[in-house]
Amino acid sequence: MNMAQNLSEREFAACYLKLSPAELEKRIRAAFKLLAPCRLCPRKCGVDRPAGEKGVCGAGEVPEVSSSNLHHGEEPVLSGWRGSGTIFFAHCNLRCVFCQNYPISQLGHGNEAEPQHLAQMMLDLQKDGAHNINFVTPTHMVPWIIEAVAIAREQGLKIPLLYNCGGYESREELRLLDGIIDIYLPDMKYSDPGHSKT
Ligand code: SF4
Repeated sequence: MNMAQNLSEREFAACYLKLSPAELEKRIRAAFKLLAPCRLCPRKCGVDRPAGEKGVCGAGEVPEVSSSNLHHGEEPVLSGWRGSGTIFFAHCNLRCVFCQNYPISQLGHGNEAEPQHLAQMMLDLQKDGAHNINFVTPTHMVPWIIEAVAIAREQGLKIPLLYNCGGYESREELRLLDGIIDIYLPDMKYSDPGHSKT
C-alpha cells in the first residue's frame, strides 16, 4: 500500500459511525413500519411482509442473500486494490426484461440471512480486507440492513457502506438511509415509462 492509499483510508470516517445508537434504533423502528402495509419502494404493494405476504419483488419476511464476497470488478474506485465487500440480495423490486441476474432477481435464488447473520457477513468482509460493504439490490431489504448495520457497528464495523440499487427508491426509504449510507450507486434502467411497461 502506498502513502496516498494509507492516508485516504485513515482520513475517511464512515457516516454511520457518527449516528447515535438511539437514532439508529429510531431508524430501524421506522423502517420496519414501512413493511406492513409494504411501501418500502414506489410500487407500494400494500402487502403485509412480516405476515409472509409477497408483493411485486417476491421478497418475504426474512432477507435472502445470493452471495457475499470480495468483488474486484466493481467500478475501480470502489473495488480499489483489495475488493468491494459485496452482499448480493435475492429478489428485486424491478422486473427488467434485460436482467442479467434473472435467477437471483426473479427466481429468488439465495439463502435466508437474519440480521445477526448479515452483520457477521459484513464483519467477515471487513476482516478479509474489503474497502467497503456493497449492498447489491438492497431496496426491498432496507429494514434488516439497517438493523444489521447497528449490530455490526457494535462489533467493530467501520468501513463505508455502498447502496448499489436499481434506482427505483421511495423518498421515505432514502430519508431513513441518510447518514447511514456513504455511497449511492443507482442504475439508470429506463427513461421512458412506456418502455418500462413492456
Ligand atoms: S418492497 Fe416489494 S413488496 Fe414492498 S412495495 Fe416494493 S415491490 Fe412491493
